[in-house]
Amino acid sequence: MPSETIDSFCRRCNGVVSAQVRATASGEPTEDLFERLDPGEDGLRRAQYKLAFCPRCEAVFLYRSCKTEPSEFPLEEVLLSARIRAPGD
Ligand SMILES: [Zn+2]
Repeated sequence: MPSETIDSFCRRCNGVVSAQVRATASGEPTEDLFERLDPGEDGLRRAQYKLAFCPRCEAVFLYRSCKTEPSEFPLEEVLLSARIRAPGD
C-alpha cells in the first residue's frame, strides 16, 4: 500500500510536491479553529495532524485538518513548513 501524500508547495523545490506523510495524530480542536467556525455550524470534530516531508529535499510540513459539525465543512491549513538547509545556502 503506497504511503499517503499531500500535495504542497515546497519553497526550496519552488513547486508543488507530493509530500510524504510519515506521522499522524489527532487532538481536540483548538481555540483558533473555533474562531473560524461558520455561524451556522454547531461545533468541530477532532483535529487531525499530519507530518509530511518533501520527497526531494526533505523539507518538513505540518498539516492540520478539522471538520465542522454538522455540515462537515473542512478547515485545512499548513501550520508549519520548514526548509532544510543545504550546502551553499
Ligand atoms: Zn522540496
